[in-house]
Amino acid sequence: MKRDVRLAKVLLAAVMVSVSAATGWQLWAARDQTLAAADTNNLNLAKALNIYAEGIFTQSDMLLQSVAETLKAPDWEAEHLQRVQSLVERQKSLLDPLDGVALLDARGDWLMHSRGRIPPGTNSADRPYFIHHRDTRSNDVLISPPIRNPFTGEWGITVSRRLEDDTGGFAGVAVIGLGLQNFLRAFGTITLPGSGTIGLSTYHGKMLVLYPYREQDIGLDFSGSPNFQRHFGGTSGTASFRSSVDGTQRLYAFRKSDRYPVLTTVAVGRHQALQAWRHQALLTVGVVGALLAAVAAVGWRLIINIGRRIRAEASLLAAREDLLQANQRLAVLATQDQLTGLANRRSFDEVLAQESRRAAREGSALSLLLLDLDYFKRFNDAYGHVAGDQCLRAVAMALSRSIRRPGDLVARYGGEELAIVLPSTGLQGACKVAELLLEQVRALGITHSESPHGQVTVSIGVATLQGPRLHEPEQRLVEAADHALYRAKENGRNCWISQEEWPAG
Ligand code: GH3
Ligand code: MG
Ligand code: MG
Repeated sequence: MKRDVRLAKVLLAAVMVSVSAATGWQLWAARDQTLAAADTNNLNLAKALNIYAEGIFTQSDMLLQSVAETLKAPDWEAEHLQRVQSLVERQKSLLDPLDGVALLDARGDWLMHSRGRIPPGTNSADRPYFIHHRDTRSNDVLISPPIRNPFTGEWGITVSRRLEDDTGGFAGVAVIGLGLQNFLRAFGTITLPGSGTIGLSTYHGKMLVLYPYREQDIGLDFSGSPNFQRHFGGTSGTASFRSSVDGTQRLYAFRKSDRYPVLTTVAVGRHQALQAWRHQALLTVGVVGALLAAVAAVGWRLIINIGRRIRAEASLLAAREDLLQANQRLAVLATQDQLTGLANRRSFDEVLAQESRRAAREGSALSLLLLDLDYFKRFNDAYGHVAGDQCLRAVAMALSRSIRRPGDLVARYGGEELAIVLPSTGLQGACKVAELLLEQVRALGITHSESPHGQVTVSIGVATLQGPRLHEPEQRLVEAADHALYRAKENGRNCWISQEEWPAG
């Protein structure tokens, strides 16, 4: 029964733990899926934006190539410059971010700008792009970090190319200015969750454009950032880390251009990316939690009820056991004499009747010994009733010890009279038993100063149902034994007498 309660508790705990574990696992898997989906989206977006950026740089590159071919250094005529001017005008409608095109001669002096007149003496020989092209013999374009447009004062990035004379010597630089605003406008058309950013930087981590735009982000350089070095190694990929700029944990995706040394990054706040999942998870936790609470409450109630039932059954069993024991005690009490522990009168009557019927049935003899303590009144008077009771008990025990045959019965007939039923015992045998009992009582050696024998003795009347008397009622046997006892008393006591001639019925 207790095992049932334990089993119920284990079952309840197992249900709670497994449902919690399954829910937790499911939520965790959903979270991973959400993050993976966000990574995939970001990466796709980064790839698309990379194509957009590549397109702009390709167009810029082609324009610069056209400019280089149009001009034949070093004899740049005004007419050539005019041709370049109209070339740029034509391209402007095709290249959105195009702010303007400038031509610098080998000394860094500005020869022309597509926006019009140049203040005399404008020189950009100190600009990194100029120094790069002057010192590097390569026709590759150079994409430089943001600088302010000298005409509009707005931020833009430059795409530049080395111009050479016929001998391959450095002849100057053609520079295209691309306004940041155009990039930002294009990036702004994309919907990103809060804290989302789109960035265009050089391979080495110099930020070109960062959306959303903040003045203080201009010129950011991640080249020394451990995050940049660790996570943006391959051609494309995803990563999750805390931004060193604003401390926000973001999911990043990047794609490097195959044609230009630029890198497009898309990042969304990790917190925002998990927002929908968090709502769903909270709902799930709420529902499952409520369900588990209900299961726990019902389960606990059931366990309590099982416990109660077990206790009730246990006390019922205990009560039944008590009742059985009480019944057994009662049964013993009903057949036992309290003082001597011998069978009582009721039980004697039953056994005698039963044995007399059996004797008649089986034709076997049945003997009865009636035994009475001699001068017992005097014993009581001399030694008191308590001593009298002890004496009675001692005699009863002596008789019980002597009568050991199964089927024999020693009973208290009444007062200080005892009766011994001896089934299947003839008169001779009964007389032997009577003699033995006399001996046993004498052997007790209980002093009785008021008896002529000086000690406690008994007188015994012996009677037997046998032969033609077998069918006599048992009452006759009692009368015969009683008669014999009477005669034993008359005979001086401390002896046994068998009743051969039965008194008239
Ligand atoms: P006798 O049988 O030898 O003729 O003399 P007696 O004194 O034994 O005769 P009687 O039968 O007249 O007395 C029986 C006495 O036994 C009466 C009573 O004081 C005593 N007696 C009977 N039952 C008990 C008992 O249960 N306890 C005690 N202590 N005495 C008992
Ligand atoms: Mg008597
Ligand atoms: Mg007596």
